[in-house]
Amino acid sequence: MVYLVKLQKLDVTIERQKTAERDGSKKLVALDEELVQAGAKVQESLNLEKEKKKRRRELESYIEETDGNIKKCQNRQFQVKNNEEYKALLKEIDYQKKAKAEAEEEVLQLMESLETLAEENSKLKAWYEEEKVTLNIRKKEVEKWVNDSKQELGKNEIERESLIKVLPKDMLSAYQRVFTRGNGRAVVPIIDGICQECHLQIPPQHFNELKRNDKLMSCPNCNRLIFWQDHEDYQDI
Ligand SMILES: [Zn+2]
Repeated sequence: MVYLVKLQKLDVTIERQKTAERDGSKKLVALDEELVQAGAKVQESLNLEKEKKKRRRELESYIEETDGNIKKCQNRQFQVKNNEEYKALLKEIDYQKKAKAEAEEEVLQLMESLETLAEENSKLKAWYEEEKVTLNIRKKEVEKWVNDSKQELGKNEIERESLIKVLPKDMLSAYQRVFTRGNGRAVVPIIDGICQECHLQIPPQHFNELKRNDKLMSCPNCNRLIFWQDHEDYQDI
C-alpha cells in the first residue's frame, strides 16, 4: 500500500505539473499576442499621423494652385472684351478664393490635430518600448517556470517508472481501475476509523484488519483503496 500512496502522490503531482506546463505555454502565446497588439496600436496611430501629413501636403499644393489661378484671372481682367466675360471672370475669382479659404481652414485644423497627434505618438512609442521590456521580463519568468516544471515533471516520470517496476501487477491494476473511476483519487486515508473520501465509519472488524497494513483493502462504501493513516509506514510520505 505504501507504494500505491506514493504512486498516487506522484500521479497527482505529475498531473499538476502537466497542467502548469500547458498553462505556461498558453501564457507565453498570450504575452506574444499582447505585444503584437501593442505594436499594432502604435502603428495605427503612426499611420494616422502619416495620412494627415499627406493630406496637409496635398492641400498646400492645392492652395498654391488656386493662388496661381487667382493671379491668372486677375491678369485677364484687363483683357476682357465685354461685361459678360468680366462677370464670368469675377465669378471664377470668387470661386477660387473660396476654395483657397476652405483649404487653408482645413490646413489649420490639420496642423492643430497633428500637433496633438505627434505628442500622443511620442508617448505611445515610449509606452510601447516600456511594454516590450515588461512583457519580455514576464516572458522570461514564465519560460523559466515552464522549464523548471518540465524538469520536475521529467524527474517525477522517471520516479514513477521505477515505482511501477516494483509494484505487484494486481496492485497496479486495482489502483488504475479505481483511479480512472474515482476522478484521480484511488487511495484515501482512514483517520479515526473514518474514510476521508465518503466519511463512512469503517466497521470495527474491517478497521482492525486495515490496521495490520498487510493487504489491499477498499472502503465498503466508495470502493476506494484505503490505508490507515496512523501506521508508521505512512508517516514520511
Ligand atoms: Zn469511502
